[in-house]
Amino acid sequence: MVSRMEQELSPGLYIVATPIGNLGDITLRAIEVLRGVAAVACEDTRVTGKLLNHLGLKKRMIRYDDHAGEADREKLLALMADEPVALVSDAGTPLISDPGFRLVRAAREAGIPVTSLPGASAAIVALTLSGLPNDRFLFAGFLPAKDKARRDVLAELGDVPATLVFYETAPRLCDALEAIGETLPGREVAVSRELTKKFEECRTGSADELAAHFAERPAKGEIVLMIGPPVASQPSEADADALLRAELARAKPSQAAARVAKLTGLDRKALYARALELR
Ligand code: SAM
Repeated sequence: MVSRMEQELSPGLYIVATPIGNLGDITLRAIEVLRGVAAVACEDTRVTGKLLNHLGLKKRMIRYDDHAGEADREKLLALMADEPVALVSDAGTPLISDPGFRLVRAAREAGIPVTSLPGASAAIVALTLSGLPNDRFLFAGFLPAKDKARRDVLAELGDVPATLVFYETAPRLCDALEAIGETLPGREVAVSRELTKKFEECRTGSADELAAHFAERPAKGEIVLMIGPPVASQPSEADADALLRAELARAKPSQAAARVAKLTGLDRKALYARALELR
């Protein structure tokens, strides 16, 4: 019996994630699809050529980068209407801070089948490595290079109750950390560098601590910068009293204090003393 992977690929667009450093991080399905396509649309033919060479594949490569225009898309759409075509970026998942969004949109509008093969993406690797809360996260691409625009983005996203994930470049890291220290003081920050590569590093601390560290030992390579969610501000005495009263209506003072301590992070003993007064 012929497995699905051994069947001929049908025409369409195949979005293929590639490794972000370690060449082992490519899926079996990605290799089979790259083997089966008629052409590979890529940002840089030298970079993708190296990957294909490593996989023992020789393929027609078509440049599709940030400068691609309508005419480039039209040519690719015409090809993928008849043949299977892969879209890759230099590293990681195409479209994620990489070209491809307009191509996918145009393919869908033209009724061309689109398939996306999951694989490595630096944002996800960094997030899982950082130890920062990941029940909610917001990926916001690259932080702007200019100081004012960078601070505006930090102020805009600062209140979002989620870990913020940004791509960053080594030369801009210290400026970004300084801006975070001033715009969002007290937040937990993580810097993940050179993920899946020999000098992989993940460092956490306050923005000021990390700025001091990287000022002394300038960071090299590729970087993901993350900011932990805002810490809930302490409730006022009136708010704490209101919570205690509500709990006291159905529980003993010790239970009410424990519950409110859990909810607010306030000291349980102090809450217990106050609960006895309020009872
Ligand atoms: N599409 C890619 C992805 O899915 O991860 C991201 C492409 S974006 C143009 C490149 C940026 O991703 C780098 O500047 C860096 O911020 C981040 N990045 C890519 N590979 C990385 C790695 N191995 N370690 C840390 N960051 C990486």
